[in-house]
Formats: sequence, structure tokens, C-alpha cells
Amino acid sequence: MRCVTVTASTAPARWEYAPAPESVKAPIREQYDLFIGGRWIPSKGGKRFPTINPATEETLSRVVDASATDVDRAVEAARKAFPKWSKTKPTERAKYLFRVARRIQDKARELAVLETMDGGKPIKESRDVDVPLVAQHFFHHAGWCDKLRYAVPFRGRDHDPRPIGVCGQIIPWNFPLLMAAWKLAPALCCGNTCVLKPAETTPLTALALAEIFEEVDLPPGVVNVVTGGPSTGKALVEHAGVDKIAFTGSTEVGKRIATTCAGTGKRLTLELGGKSPNIIFADAAIDQAIEGIVNGIWFNQGHVCCAGSRLLVEESVLDEVIAKLRHRLKSLRVGDPLDKNTDVGAINSAEQLDTIRRYLKIGDEEGAKREEVINGPLPSKGYWCRPTFFTDVQPSHRIAREEIFGPVLAVLSFRTPEEAIVRANNTPYGLSAGVWTDKGSKVFEVARQLKAGVVWCNTFNKFDAASPFGGYRESGFGREGGRHGLMAYLAKT
Ligand code: NAD
Repeated sequence: MRCVTVTASTAPARWEYAPAPESVKAPIREQYDLFIGGRWIPSKGGKRFPTINPATEETLSRVVDASATDVDRAVEAARKAFPKWSKTKPTERAKYLFRVARRIQDKARELAVLETMDGGKPIKESRDVDVPLVAQHFFHHAGWCDKLRYAVPFRGRDHDPRPIGVCGQIIPWNFPLLMAAWKLAPALCCGNTCVLKPAETTPLTALALAEIFEEVDLPPGVVNVVTGGPSTGKALVEHAGVDKIAFTGSTEVGKRIATTCAGTGKRLTLELGGKSPNIIFADAAIDQAIEGIVNGIWFNQGHVCCAGSRLLVEESVLDEVIAKLRHRLKSLRVGDPLDKNTDVGAINSAEQLDTIRRYLKIGDEEGAKREEVINGPLPSKGYWCRPTFFTDVQPSHRIAREEIFGPVLAVLSFRTPEEAIVRANNTPYGLSAGVWTDKGSKVFEVARQLKAGVVWCNTFNKFDAASPFGGYRESGFGREGGRHGLMAYLAKT
């Protein structure tokens, strides 16, 4: 194994930051029941399990591993609510979504703290990215409620877009509240009712959202939240009373869900994994591109489906880019996610940390050269992984092909734009890509040929409720956000 370590002693002298701990406290109940039919009800047959803070390993609360009977009750409540909700005047539905959005803004700080405690992401990200986008999604879709006729391809003056019915929505742990908003806001806007299942390691913000639905008097059963693990998700997917499944998670589970839904008549959208290329041409503004690389792979500890985890650098600037990246890494602060100075927080779970470590070992064994930043000690408790990049990576290496879902970057090079495009598309995934160049014509020429749902030019990881997001190939199908995202929640007529 060749491993070079950048230590504090080799770093230039610098000022130490004083800790800047977040002062707002998030209210967390000792335990939560299930939110079904507008009430908090105990499980029938489901055991409780703890949800922990990955930065401290402390138990935050205990939630239910919902049973098939619980899922059945939730689907029944959603079915019961559907006739009235789907006929509710669009302007009335919009009022509920506006209220939800405003309540999210009122509680923004608490929600950000809760997200950070339950998931490990830095407070500056949950506060400045996740929660504002969550509010934006509800505001955006509130605006669409009475304009759905203009969202779909025109089919005559009398065309009246209809909802699908009951939507089963299953989400992952990397952006728990944002993924809930991506699923619920368009579904409710179109007049559907929902059963939401958050990920097992991050249920708390979905439950906080259920509290908001209670506060704004959303009619009972319009949204139901069932916590639990894979068996809860499976029961929801298999339930005959569900008309549509919307799943965000791993490609492996997505494929299983597609098999289950095949032939049932259920509508399905899948938002799955990725191994996205971030292409840096020699004529790019390199300092700006370095920020794009950092944001592309170390945002949210690399727990990002569209992370720019494969860096493709034009050979003539490879040494310059690596030197600048190494320098920039020295200033990334890893540690307490509730400290406002922290750039890289905790890994979401012990299980995910094991996966990342396994890939670090694979990279070493494959002969790639590993560099990681050691910028002070890591906390003694919790799950941590230092921001890392590998050079001397071959396209055949597993670290260049497989989704690691952690703060680990594989650096490769190319000589011509054609080679960059071939290497970028050499993946079974197709979720996102980045292109960095000062030449406008090159941006369009390259972006056009990249097989990815989203291509960012001279930026990375930019999201907007009005902009559709989704993948090609093994990254799934269907779009979330914007006008295209509404199609996934309207019946085909
Ligand atoms: P996962 O597939 O293990 O779990 C996702 C969700 O599915 C969880 O709620 C889980 O409990 C549930 N689940 C697990 N097995 C199930 C089954 N058999 N039937 C029904 N539900 C089941 O994924 P994860 O580890 O939580 O999330 C990480 C993955 O999500 C990564 O691959 C990432 O790329 C992907 N992701 C994609 C997007 C996107 O928009 N494309 C966004 C975020 C995350």
C-alpha cells in the first residue's frame, strides 16, 4: 500500500478556530409512535429500535419498526382520505402546502439541528442547504396546484389532470427531510395521498414533518408516516392498496422493487445510485474548479447519490489540480457536526463506515495511491472518515466503478475531449456529471454527449425545486422536481 499523509505539522501555520456550537435545541420525544390517519398510534406487532446520533453514538429516541399490519393500517387510512383530498379544490390544497412551507421556515433552525443530530451532516449544510430547499419544494408545488392543466402536454380545453391514488414513498438516509419533501410536495399538489417510510437511521425529521402536518390541520390520512427498516418498506411495496411506489435508495434494492412491481399495474419511479464524473479541462478556471471538486465529493461526507466521485482531469493540468486539491484539503474541518465551523461531519452509521473502509482497502490493494487529510484529531466517539482521494487510479479499478457513498474521490486523467466523454460514460450509472471549461461551445458540445440526468457546467451539486432531477440506466427512471416531476404523480390519460 502506498499511502501519503498530509499532517498538521506539514501544513502551514494557521489560526485555530474557536468552537462555534449551535445553540438551538431540537425537541425530541423519548419515543415515537406511528403517524396514521392524523393520529399518533402505537404499533401492532412492531418492536422499537433506537435512532442514534452518529457523531456521539448516543440514543436520541426510540422508534417503531412498523409491521405489515401497521403498513396495512396506514394504506387504509390513505385510501380513506383519497376521495375527499383528490376532490379538494386545487386552491385549497395549495393553502395547505403554503402553510406547511411557512411552518418549515418557522421551525427551520430546529429542523436543521434535528437533521444534523440524527444523520451526522454539518449544521451549516442542513441549515443553509437542506432545510431551505425543503421549504422551497413546498412553496414551489403550492404554486402548481391550480395550474396542473398547464404542466402536462395540452390535451384539449376540458382536460383535467387526475391524481394516481395512494403513493407508497420510501426514502434513504442521506437527505432525510429533503427526500421527504421531494416525494410529498408533488404528490400532495396533484391530489394523491401518501404513506411515507423514512430510512431506519434517520427517521426523526420525517416525524417532525408529521408534527407539522398536524399543526396545519392537514386532513387525517392524507400523509401517514411509518418508520421501520427493509421489511416495512417491502410490506409497503407489496401492498395491493398502493397505486404508486416512489423509491429513492440503492440500485440493488431498486431492482428488487422493480421486480416486485412488474405486472401489478403499480406506477413506479426509481431514484438510485451513481458514480458521477466531474470533468476538468485544462482551460477551466482551476481555483473555481477546486471548489467544485470539494463540493462535489465532500459535501455531506460524500453521502450524495450525484456526488462527483470520479474526477477526470486533463493530463496537462493534472499535477496542478492535485497540488491545489491537497492544499485545499488542509483547510477542511472534520468533526462535531453541530459546530458551525465544521465542513465534514460524521458518517451516517457504523455499517456505512465499514463499507467505506472496505473500499479504502480495496483501493490500496488495487495499487492506487491514497491521500487523506489529517487536520487535527477526530472525536473519540462516533463514526468518522477523513476526506480522501486516490490517484494512479485505472478505469477498471473498483474504486472508479462502484458507488462508495463516502468522502472518497477517485482521480483519473484524459488527453482529449473525446476520451473524457468516453471515460465519463463508461459506467452503468447515469445520474449526474460536471464539466469545467472556460469555453462555452465546449461546455455544450461535451454536456450534450454525457449520459447523465443532470449535467452541471462550471458548478456542482446545485439543486432547485423547479429543476427536474433523476437518472439514466442503473441510476433509475422518472424525474423529481419541476414540471417533469409532476408527471410522476398524475394518472396517464
Ligand atoms: P437502501 O436501498 O438500502 O435503502 C433505502 C430505503 O429503502 C430505506 O428506507 C430502506 O429501509 C428501504 N429498503 C431497504 N430494503 C428494502 C426492500 N427490500 N423493500 C423496500 N424498501 C427497502 O439505500 P440507502 O443505503 O438508505 O441509501 C443510499 C442509496 O440511495 C445510495 O445508493 C444513493 O445513491 C441512493 N440515493 C439516490 C438518490 C437519487 O435521487 N437518485 C438520492 C439519495 C440517495
